[in-house]
Amino acid sequence: MRSAWVDADAEATVAHYANDGIARDLALRVYTTRLLGRDRKLVLHGGGNTSVKTRMPDLLGAEADVLCVKGSGWDMATIEPAGLPAVRLGPLRQLRAREALADEEMVRVQRANLLDPMAPNPSVETLLHAFVRAKFVDHTHSTAVLSLIDQPNGEALAAEVYDGRMGVVPYIMPGFALAKKAAEVFEATPGAHGLILHKHGIFTFGDNARQAYERMIEMVTLAEQRLQRNRKTVFVTAQLPQRMASLAATGPIVRGACSLKNDKVEGDVRRLVLEFRTGDVIRNFVDGAEVARYSQAGVVTPDHTIRTKNWPLVVPAPADGGLAQFKRDVAVAVAAFVDNYAAYFARNNARCQLTKKMLDPLPRVVLVPGLGLYGLGRSKKAAKIAADLAQAAVETITDAEAIGRFESIAEADMFDCEYWSLEQAKLGSAVEKPLTGHVTAITGGAGAIGFAAAKAFAAAGAEIALLDVNDGAAREKAKAIGGAALAVRCDVTDPASVALAFDAVAEHFGGLDILVSNAGAAWQGRIGEVDEEVLRKSFDLNFYGHQRAAQAAVKIMLAQDTGGVLLFNVSKQAVNPGPSFGPYGLPKAATLFLVRQYAVDYGAEGIRANAVNADRIRSGLLTDDMIASRSQARGLSEKDYMTGNLLGREVTADDVAQAFLHHALALKTTGDVTTVDGGNIAAAMR
Ligand SMILES: [Zn+2]
Repeated sequence: MRSAWVDADAEATVAHYANDGIARDLALRVYTTRLLGRDRKLVLHGGGNTSVKTRMPDLLGAEADVLCVKGSGWDMATIEPAGLPAVRLGPLRQLRAREALADEEMVRVQRANLLDPMAPNPSVETLLHAFVRAKFVDHTHSTAVLSLIDQPNGEALAAEVYDGRMGVVPYIMPGFALAKKAAEVFEATPGAHGLILHKHGIFTFGDNARQAYERMIEMVTLAEQRLQRNRKTVFVTAQLPQRMASLAATGPIVRGACSLKNDKVEGDVRRLVLEFRTGDVIRNFVDGAEVARYSQAGVVTPDHTIRTKNWPLVVPAPADGGLAQFKRDVAVAVAAFVDNYAAYFARNNARCQLTKKMLDPLPRVVLVPGLGLYGLGRSKKAAKIAADLAQAAVETITDAEAIGRFESIAEADMFDCEYWSLEQAKLGSAVEKPLTGHVTAITGGAGAIGFAAAKAFAAAGAEIALLDVNDGAAREKAKAIGGAALAVRCDVTDPASVALAFDAVAEHFGGLDILVSNAGAAWQGRIGEVDEEVLRKSFDLNFYGHQRAAQAAVKIMLAQDTGGVLLFNVSKQAVNPGPSFGPYGLPKAATLFLVRQYAVDYGAEGIRANAVNADRIRSGLLTDDMIASRSQARGLSEKDYMTGNLLGREVTADDVAQAFLHHALALKTTGDVTTVDGGNIAAAMR
């Protein structure tokens, strides 16, 4: 591993922050924290922290000795000075005299001594930073160091590689006891450049930012070099099927099995989102004949447990043509995983005098021999984090096995970390939104109603896939929604395009729960004279387009076995024909019947089908120009034309979106049509 320190960059950072009144110490702390944070072999998702001991004025202007230490919620790769809150050093150090200190009290003392009471919570490892007498302290969960020390003889290996240059601290859960022990070991190891925390990670110290940082690089490099010596070949590959099933077919089966029915609300399912990863290293790991042993040995560093759980789920390889068997096998594997998790929880909760509440028992990492691995999470973002950590674990365990045998911390230690209030606090306690974990695909997603639906569903917590024939516009709209919204090209008049688009959704999110079938366009002509070609074109888009999208969605939903909902944008024309609108109204009438047919055919599988019957919405179908010409033709003002309904109110795309959202949430409603037109008795459903 090479040092990424560049003098000019360091000085530029100092100069940049000097304008904001940030002193050199803190500016350089920001600079090297980012260098560490940008290297995924050192730091991933909160796994690491840094500090500097310095002096700065408090809110009243009095100089104080402080520890600026990474605050929770900040990403080291992009940290700013505000992400390194200053805590008064004196009071922190006084705590060292205590025999014991409860976590909650530790947090209280830390918060009470923040210079800025509005600052984020200092890292859970703050006391360790405070107790060691070094100006700059850098901490990472380097994969190379973990490969070296996650071994039965890890402490001996560390002693051999570092030869007195690093103190070695036995495994203790982060918190007060670890901080005390680490400081003791450091003081008993004169000349040490840092500490190896057995089965956890590495700390390096320095008088200045560069020294602490470059010691991290040097010590990690020594571990990397050791990993290259006396390697045995890992892993021996298992016998796998000749051809594997597709990712698009595998994802929904895995996702459906990794879900939880709500016992209290019929039809309500706790769903997870998937993130797939593969590559040579991952395939070598998941395809190994002994994957059931080395993958089940536990976490590579304790804080992974809150994102990945302690063990991944291993499923059999999905053979091409063998999906029915795969589905049965996965269901059995997930059931066993859930039972094991409940037993693990019960065992350890009994040890802790039954004070904890069980988290959901579903896996967060699934290994699929022949394909790769899935990270799972309540959101796409959480799934990506789980996948990143799983990938780091694969690399760590592979190297650990190459030089010895991977060994994690004990089960009780993993449990204590998983159920540690300070770790759970990292995940946040925000109340989940009603559609969290629900994957929603919207055809015509770049149009007015499609985009309004996308915004409404995203605000309700859903993951969004915008399908549109104009993929450039879909990408733009997906960006506007933000988060993990996906844009996919989809021409609903082309069966191949529909198949590709829904495969892309299944590959990206692992499945689909909600379809908003919205793509459409209007054709006109007096029905007795209209060209048959016009009618066929309209049927192709306004009827077959819905049928193709619904069919593709149902295929995924049936593979998941967790129900779902199909939502169709029909039109007033479906029930109340307007003059010369036959070419548009006829296929829409057929689509209205299609809704009912889906409701009838798939109710038993929990797949609901509903429609929204909207009229006179400003959109690609009713453009501002059309509104101008139609209102003129009727001798009305534009406003009177748009509000020509019983309520006298203009109906907007957002109103239609809210109706779709209602149908997505109405677990006991199917075969229903909701009218959103401001009131029009002639077009009322009966
Ligand atoms: Zn750590």
